[in-house]
Amino acid sequence: MTHVIELAGVAKRYDSAGAPALGPLDLGVARGEALAITGPSGSGKSTLLNLVAGLDRPSAGTVTVAGRRIDELSEHALAHFRREHIGMVFQFFNLLDDLTVEDNIRLPAQLTGTSRRKAAARAGELMEVLGIARHAGAYPGRLSGGERQRVAVARALVNRPALLLADEPTGALDTASGHDVRELLVDLHRDGQTIVLVTHDLALARACASRTIHLVDGHLALDTNAEALR
Ligand code: ADP
Repeated sequence: MTHVIELAGVAKRYDSAGAPALGPLDLGVARGEALAITGPSGSGKSTLLNLVAGLDRPSAGTVTVAGRRIDELSEHALAHFRREHIGMVFQFFNLLDDLTVEDNIRLPAQLTGTSRRKAAARAGELMEVLGIARHAGAYPGRLSGGERQRVAVARALVNRPALLLADEPTGALDTASGHDVRELLVDLHRDGQTIVLVTHDLALARACASRTIHLVDGHLALDTNAEALR
């Protein structure tokens, strides 16, 4: 089985005293899996997501994403790796308000050296699929929360990342928009996109994920793949 994510003996300490904030843990995520990470506040969900995203480094162990040991990469190489292989969606969208919807979506493609023409074509295709084509020329500030999150998802997918990471993607949305974004993630999973989603919304995890891990105090308390309490 091809693993998009492979964590081996991973631990993260923010200070030398006491137990690690996360781990030590081993975790493999297969291509095409949609993994939800749940757990109470402070259980290590963001820490785990940041390690997988290459936004932070482990204190121990190895982090392999799309076949690369990302814990060994330089900051420069990591930034490059992230742009090419990882798409991220955040609770508060993180769009650039002075760029149009289309330019927001195109930007990561152009940063990896994709030609203007190809980036525009890919952005157009994604806006069509995600139902936001009519907003191409609008600025994000004019859109609803649900529409903004669709733009953020399009931007995350523009470079066809091996991995889509989402941090509480419905956390700032009303019920109806939250439902739309949930359906969108379900569709992406169905199309084979590997997804890792952090949420404390168990309904979201149930709807979107093919697998759920539950963290308690930095440890894997439940993995529906293993179907075992550890
Ligand atoms: P969650 O995302 O599940 O709320 P976090 O991963 O944010 O949990 O936090 C796990 C633990 O690590 C918590 O005890 C938190 O206080 C601590 N922690 C997280 N980030 C930092 C940091 N940058 N510096 C120090 N401690 C941190």
